[in-house]
Amino acid sequence: LQNHPLSGLESTYADELAELTVRWQGAEAPDPTLLVVNEQLAQSLGLDVDRLRQEVGILSGGVAPADSTPVAMAYAGHQFGGYAPLLGDGRALLLGELHDSEGRRVDLHLKGSGRTPFSRGGDGYAVVGPMLREYLISEAMFALGIPTTRSLSVVATGRGVLRDGVEPGAVLARVASSHIRVGTFEFAVRREGALGPLADYAIARHYPELIDRPDRYLAFFEAVVEAQASLVAQWMLVGFVHGVMNTDNTTISGQTIDYGPCAFLDAYDPAAVFSSIDQRGRYAFGNQPAVLTWNLARFGETLLGLVATTPDDAISSVTAVLESFSTRYDAHFAAGMAAKLGLGAYTGTLVDDLLTIMEDHRADWTGTFRALAGELRGNPGPLDSLIAREHIGPWLERWRRELAGQDVSTVADAMDRVNPVYIPRNHRVDAALRAATDGDLGPFETLLDVVTHPFERRDAWSDYAGAAPEDFSAGFQTFCG
Ligand code: AMP
Ligand code: MG
Ligand code: MG
Repeated sequence: LQNHPLSGLESTYADELAELTVRWQGAEAPDPTLLVVNEQLAQSLGLDVDRLRQEVGILSGGVAPADSTPVAMAYAGHQFGGYAPLLGDGRALLLGELHDSEGRRVDLHLKGSGRTPFSRGGDGYAVVGPMLREYLISEAMFALGIPTTRSLSVVATGRGVLRDGVEPGAVLARVASSHIRVGTFEFAVRREGALGPLADYAIARHYPELIDRPDRYLAFFEAVVEAQASLVAQWMLVGFVHGVMNTDNTTISGQTIDYGPCAFLDAYDPAAVFSSIDQRGRYAFGNQPAVLTWNLARFGETLLGLVATTPDDAISSVTAVLESFSTRYDAHFAAGMAAKLGLGAYTGTLVDDLLTIMEDHRADWTGTFRALAGELRGNPGPLDSLIAREHIGPWLERWRRELAGQDVSTVADAMDRVNPVYIPRNHRVDAALRAATDGDLGPFETLLDVVTHPFERRDAWSDYAGAAPEDFSAGFQTFCG
């Protein structure tokens, strides 16, 4: 029977929502070589890492696990505001589902596994640099405590893939609480009979506490709005720019998905855009909450027919939930900023005023919060190197007044538990991926170790904490890969 390293793979999505999938098989990899495997994640999924290493063909997509039902998933989506009725897994496959250590169902998905019926003009492949990039950044996000898909492995296929020049092909194996997106609903709502089963499946899988509620579809919408409001607040708190927040990249689970042209801020700038294809700044750092609201509006529209008996009722109740987004987002962001500054529940203007100062002086986002904790410990050097005393001094006095009565070293320690020292700095990521593409995985492995231990400063890692040199940041762009 199932005698392979992924035995136990289930296929509830492919079985229950067959019309949203196409059974498919990955392209054979000429020479599959494991570049990186996530032993901890494998263990938490009950997988035998040694067997995975021996049967790398399965992780390349070229060898289908016995008794499995790999499928390409169909979805639609709004890309940069324009509707695309048919996107789907153009270079990816859902291998099936496993259970995590807490018994929750998760998807095992391959990216870069060859052409599918959804490939349109694409070649169906992916290359080493961008797949290691997704691996690294998703695992960094996980270590930062932010809901995200995770990465199990990257396998080099041995196939040359045409990009700028010929680059080494690769397949990422990714684990997600599911791959159901707003775009999946946009696809299903236009297919007779497809929407109800998808909504019921998504509720049962992600929000099972809602199953028996008579208003479950509205409650489902509200749960997704809440999960996404919380998620984007966490991106904003850590300085993460997703880069391509199309509706097909907005999950129903509330996990971050699809690490393409994403980046982390060095200098704080609400207008920061890194993606080469985001010409107008639709997905700029400071625009992310607004664009998410827009994506959730597209999601809400798909649910109108399920929500209530009369169209007017449905529109007004979905709109009311959508309008709750900004209150929810503000609450998450305010609580997160209070924690970053060592404050209890805080509602004044201190945060806004700090952000203005940071923006005016292009202060490093990540560095500033650690420097503020240093300031409390009587170490002014780090903050001095970021913002001149004359500009931040009055603000510091106000902040210290808010903290009055508390033990400052306790406050500083609490701040250090929520403010990372190490994030995937763009220049570091860039250098590590270049080396990896040329066959040297050393810098990638070190960087992965650093960014998956974000909160504890280590002497050996002092070179990883600082912002990129200005000449690097000036022209830095990210690409979809
Ligand atoms: P993304 O921008 O990564 O969210 O991808 C948008 C769509 O383009 C999805 O349907 C992908 O499957 C598809 N796609 C991206 N790259 C390729 C490729 N190299 N070959 C085929 N389809 C692709
Ligand atoms: Mg995508
Ligand atoms: Mg992508």
